[in-house]
Amino acid sequence: MDSAASTVVVLGSVNMDLVTTTAQRPAPGETVLGSGFATVPGGKGANQAIAAARSGAQVRFLGAVGDDAFGTTLRSTLAEAGVDTALLRTVDGPSGVATIVVDGTGENSIIVVAGANGRVTDLTEDELAAIAAADILLCQLEIPLRTVAAAAQHARASGTVVALNPSPVRALPAELWADVDLAMVNSLEAERYAAELNRVPHVVRTLGGDGAVYRCADGTEFAVAGLTVDVVDTTGAGDAFTGALVATWTDSPNSAVNWANAAGALATTRLGASSSIPGREEIETILGAI
Ligand code: ADP
Repeated sequence: MDSAASTVVVLGSVNMDLVTTTAQRPAPGETVLGSGFATVPGGKGANQAIAAARSGAQVRFLGAVGDDAFGTTLRSTLAEAGVDTALLRTVDGPSGVATIVVDGTGENSIIVVAGANGRVTDLTEDELAAIAAADILLCQLEIPLRTVAAAAQHARASGTVVALNPSPVRALPAELWADVDLAMVNSLEAERYAAELNRVPHVVRTLGGDGAVYRCADGTEFAVAGLTVDVVDTTGAGDAFTGALVATWTDSPNSAVNWANAAGALATTRLGASSSIPGREEIETILGAI
């Protein structure tokens, strides 16, 4: 971890999660009293960008927020985590939001409105230049797919490594898969994209509490065992893992998977997604204790 910090460009989503807790979810037409409410910055793109920055990478974020109050808060949340937001667009209309209702049994219902994330339908010259100048481009699938495909194609042509977390699961064009150098998938995604992943040079499969398995370009595999931690909330563990992996991958895949596995484990020890992402010191401490 002594070499120069990687430069990572994250192209992806940024949302405000509106989390309401209630004993019972209302039936159609019914009003109930809830017990709590919180606004929590999220979106896979933003979470992974924050994770990469906390792991020490230089991170630039490409995407869009709306011109509402959420947009202002989301921009400052990224900036406070050390993510460069100079190229983050502000567009007319609402920011992306996820309305989440959690009932007394822990069951949830979620409505995601893409808002500004859905408006990222092309890439500007400045955005293309940022992709070309980076070591790694990291994307997920919460913005329009043709923009992800165009970014990956430009990265490939510019010698920038293309990392993809293909989540949520969507049918992807074959051209996009052909441009991917490194894919991070959980068990469900590994199953759904099994055929496509065979052609990706580097694949990391996360296994929840069981750690992760890495398959290298030459077909060899290595596994990293899960760390034993006091699990509070697994939300955001995958995003913490992915951002931490990408931040350190250019050093060596082996140390990057160990590093990311520690970041993912630490993220499960706290509530929330963006709020639970660990920093370098905490990761170094837990790795030093093994
Ligand atoms: P996702 O959250 O995307 O479904 P996983 O559940 O596979 O992804 O978790 C991602 C990573 O987070 C794992 O590879 C592991 O490093 C860490 N992790 C997740 N759950 C646990 C757990 N219970 N104990 C320790 N580490 C965990």
